[in-house]
Amino acid sequence: MASKKPQLSVKLSPDFDAYASGEMDASQIRCALCTNAPCQCPEFGTPDYFELIDRRHSRKGGGR
Ligand SMILES: [Zn+2]
Repeated sequence: MASKKPQLSVKLSPDFDAYASGEMDASQIRCALCTNAPCQCPEFGTPDYFELIDRRHSRKGGGR
């Protein structure tokens, strides 16, 4: 039986490894949501925010 790694429900930034190993400052990490560093997500709860979430979750490519 192969032991599975625990699956994280949180989507980590592609730069998280560098941050975890101390090579990168937290402010340099690209946000997993907006992919900007530092994070430039719209304010939580705003229509822009939900639109961004929507875009990240549905990878239809290009939107409508
Ligand atoms: Zn962000």
